[in-house]
Amino acid sequence: MIVHWHRRDLRTTDNRGLARAAATDEPVVPLFVFDPTVLEYASPVRIACLCEALEALRMRYRELGSDLVVVEGEASGAVPRIAAEYDASRVVWNADYSGLARDRDRAVRAALEDAFVTYESVHDAVHHEPGTITPNQGDHYSVFSYFWKKWRDRDKRDPVDEPDADDLADVTGDPLPTLDDLEFDEPDATPQPVTMAAARDRVADFCSGQIYRYADEREYPAATGTSRLSPHLKWGTIGPRVLYAATERAVAETDSDGDRESVREFQRQLAWREFYVHVLAFNPEIVSDNFSGYANDIEWRDDPTALEAWKAGETGYPIVDAGMRQLREEGWMHNRVRMLVASFLTKDLLLDWRLGYDWFRQLLADHDTASDVGGWQWAASTGTDAQPYFRVFNPLKQGGEYDPDAKYVREYVAELSDVPTDAIHGWHDLESAERERLAPEYPAPIVDHAARRIQAIEMFERARGET
Ligand code: FAD
Repeated sequence: MIVHWHRRDLRTTDNRGLARAAATDEPVVPLFVFDPTVLEYASPVRIACLCEALEALRMRYRELGSDLVVVEGEASGAVPRIAAEYDASRVVWNADYSGLARDRDRAVRAALEDAFVTYESVHDAVHHEPGTITPNQGDHYSVFSYFWKKWRDRDKRDPVDEPDADDLADVTGDPLPTLDDLEFDEPDATPQPVTMAAARDRVADFCSGQIYRYADEREYPAATGTSRLSPHLKWGTIGPRVLYAATERAVAETDSDGDRESVREFQRQLAWREFYVHVLAFNPEIVSDNFSGYANDIEWRDDPTALEAWKAGETGYPIVDAGMRQLREEGWMHNRVRMLVASFLTKDLLLDWRLGYDWFRQLLADHDTASDVGGWQWAASTGTDAQPYFRVFNPLKQGGEYDPDAKYVREYVAELSDVPTDAIHGWHDLESAERERLAPEYPAPIVDHAARRIQAIEMFERARGET
């Protein structure tokens, strides 16, 4: 027997590690381990997604005459134990590049060596693994545009097939644990379905039409302009090669240069994901440390009341509040609004990006350490290729530009549903009596953006040692 240990690759198709295992003469035992040292960092919404994706994976294995073996325990004990139970000579898995995952895998490798079981870690989650797209000096690019040019021009691997039923072991797994068994509450949010079938449908749907409008619509949170594939890429319910092949088909199926440009723009976003994977792989400490050093510490404020208002979507800045409420309701937020709320936390509330990252980590169904840390450090002007510290988003202008009819705000901020668009975008400048008349339940702005912008710039100049 040979064990394929699933982790963030919750699919049977376009799974390179699984295909590698299936290509041997040995029947494959599919395994998933609920590891308490990893679950420690999980959250209700993510565990709910994980269990849903695992249930779908299990059903697919059953259709193929096999099953998913599911166990609980530290991976360094559980993986060799299952290998011994099934008399497996080898364990295969797909590489995961975060620091936590690499620590876990080191311990598993050592335990397998002690048990004389061979193993293989296969590159699967990205097209071009860390260390393969590099500048002349250094392990990874720090500037995205250079990375993108190389990423774009490199050949991509083809998708790999699902194993045949004959390649899989005739095993029977125990039922999956419930959220309660795993000591997690039911999530408050209702995230989108995260299964292989949902991923396949979304790719097919997106790549047959919306992808051609992506470049024009991707920045507008009220439009269904983006793919919403991030939870699938996070959990691996879609393979990157299948997705990329679908985008290339979309290129082949159009005669319009504009359409082709739009597909390229989408592919560019896929490359951002891999850029951050490379950055994190070589800098695992950036989950808690600033990527870019400043001469002095940044003097972030300590303001628990402001933090709570931000988390609750009660800042009095409509587009920020809409985003924070979308996050709570759906476990997802539009990228433009993620940038805005992150900028607001760090540059308007002057709070440490790590506080925002922690909140996103808990609530995002698509939380991915590399992209989440990358996005936060970008917004906080501490990251790779980050927003310059003196370019501070104006949440009022951004609301008017990217949500001109305030449709997005009205969808998530019920108190503003009957308020005229101009008043929503000008909320900050209204007399308090007027605000009270229009939406008595909705707060006044908790800070003055113009004043905080100046304070933020001064805070960074002090950190740079310039004042
Ligand atoms: P689309 O626009 O359809 O893009 C397709 C795919 O490209 C995405 O699914 C994602 O895999 C990738 N992508 C797009 N934009 C980015 C980006 N800026 N950085 C990295 N990858 C990108 N993305 C996550 O997947 N997980 C996170 O935890 C996460 N946290 C973020 C935190 C902050 C503060 C910011 C500013 C961004 C974060 N992002 C994160 C990136 C981005 O917001 C999401 O990937 C995107 O909103 C997902 O929606 P979509 O699938 O419809 O994106």
